[in-house]
Amino acid sequence: KELPADPIVENTRRQVKNACYSFVTPKHTKKPELLHVSPEMLMELGLTKKDAESNTFLNVFTGNSVLPNTKPYAMCYGGHQFGNWAGQLGDGRAINLAEVEHNNKLWAIQLKGAGETPYSRTADGLAVLRSSIREYLCSEAMHHLGVPTTRALSLALSGDQVLRDMLYNGNAALEKGAIVCRVAPSFLRFGNYQILAAQEDTTTLKTLVDYTIKHHFSHLGAPSKNTYLQFFESVLNSTLKMIIHWQRVGFVHGVMNTDNLSILGLTIDYGPYGWLEGYDNDWTPNTTDSQFKRYRFGAQLDIGHWNLFQLANALYPLIEEADGLESILNSYPKKAKAQYIAMMRTKLGLYTEDDKDEELIINLEKNLQLTETDMTIFFRNLSHFSTKHSQDGLKVIKDAFYILSDVNDTVKTKWNTWFNNYAIRLNKETISAKERQLKMNQTNPKYVLRNYMAQLAIDDANKGDYKLIDELFNLLKKPYDEQPENQKWFVKRPDWARNKVGCSM
Ligand code: AMP
Ligand code: MG
Ligand code: MG
Repeated sequence: KELPADPIVENTRRQVKNACYSFVTPKHTKKPELLHVSPEMLMELGLTKKDAESNTFLNVFTGNSVLPNTKPYAMCYGGHQFGNWAGQLGDGRAINLAEVEHNNKLWAIQLKGAGETPYSRTADGLAVLRSSIREYLCSEAMHHLGVPTTRALSLALSGDQVLRDMLYNGNAALEKGAIVCRVAPSFLRFGNYQILAAQEDTTTLKTLVDYTIKHHFSHLGAPSKNTYLQFFESVLNSTLKMIIHWQRVGFVHGVMNTDNLSILGLTIDYGPYGWLEGYDNDWTPNTTDSQFKRYRFGAQLDIGHWNLFQLANALYPLIEEADGLESILNSYPKKAKAQYIAMMRTKLGLYTEDDKDEELIINLEKNLQLTETDMTIFFRNLSHFSTKHSQDGLKVIKDAFYILSDVNDTVKTKWNTWFNNYAIRLNKETISAKERQLKMNQTNPKYVLRNYMAQLAIDDANKGDYKLIDELFNLLKKPYDEQPENQKWFVKRPDWARNKVGCSM
């Protein structure tokens, strides 16, 4: 076997064989400056606010110094991008610093935007402030929404300028460079296994799968063909669970390539993601996917299945028998449907099951798409609906409509019919109206990171004003609370922000 490359003298872009990662050294930054630190994540790691104020913290989490006895590395992975096998990808701008164990939890700590690695291909290994703000705010917001996700510890400026083509004006421009420190039990993706299977390197594949099971699925026991099947089933279940959460809160990932699917079922890689404003199954925030809309809101569950099929292919060489993998894969559609309906019931405040629930849900989805209707406002306000005043349904949800003049008689009739059926259905529940409202408000967030909100924080930050980052960060810690003082964020997207979404590069 080849020796691992020297991280300093051989940190060149290359195809990596017989290995899961390469040692690298983060790039020295010119004038690093911390913009924000997550107090919750500090605590998870056993660090204090005082630690976060130290120079060591600043230097370590911007890549300027490497902790003693650690060896930062970038991981090798491949992936299917938009349905096509793309070969080796890898951590092109992510560097794992170390792992920390605290309160019996294992955390891998990673810098995003800390310089080139062997996997940087034609790019620079850097990240700009706007994409870093989007990742930092959204990953912590998702955590507080109860969605499995990678976390973020800190957001910093590197003090260096980064050259980017701004998608919306077509010109290359210098932007502020930034580094996010993100944290997760593991950053392994489907693509880490796929690349080894593609290279027909069954030995390293087995090493990686056994490592994954030992450290993250230890309850499955010693490696065997059966354990591998159970491992796959676990990944299927957690992936499905994650996507059901996305559908619940109206999150569209935007780039569900297999290299962006975590083996632990965590939301990972916050690039061109977006939040549904008007409810629309066909919506994707990813402008590079506007033709086929492969990763649109309404396709996320199916894409999860497709991606799991690719993971099954990657694990096949260790099992060499297709039936077990196939039967697990084939269980997905049924599970997905059942879990989707169960999730939608909770959004509607239904805690028993009725044969007609599926129909009620399908009709609701159709109605929500009759005219542009804000998903978050709709579900939040729905808890005010009373079966005693079922004719008032439209009044209750009125604030969710973007263009009131579009709510014509046909639309009104369809909604009134739906509310009528909803009232009949609610009357079959035993829970009190008050209790239902409380429970619905724990499922239907009042505050999400609307695309324009992140954009406002970015615009301010580009002018050197970072207050809004902190304001949004704090707002999104309690997405289910009323927070009457923050009512200004419980509004529809302003008109200027229509069709504007952030981009990831
Ligand atoms: P993504 O679209 O973010 O999932 O990235 C796809 C691949 O491109 C991954 O291998 C990334 O590491 C790599 N990549 C994205 N941006 C950069 C960058 N600025 N420098 C180096 N590699 C990058
Ligand atoms: Mg990625
Ligand atoms: Mg990305």
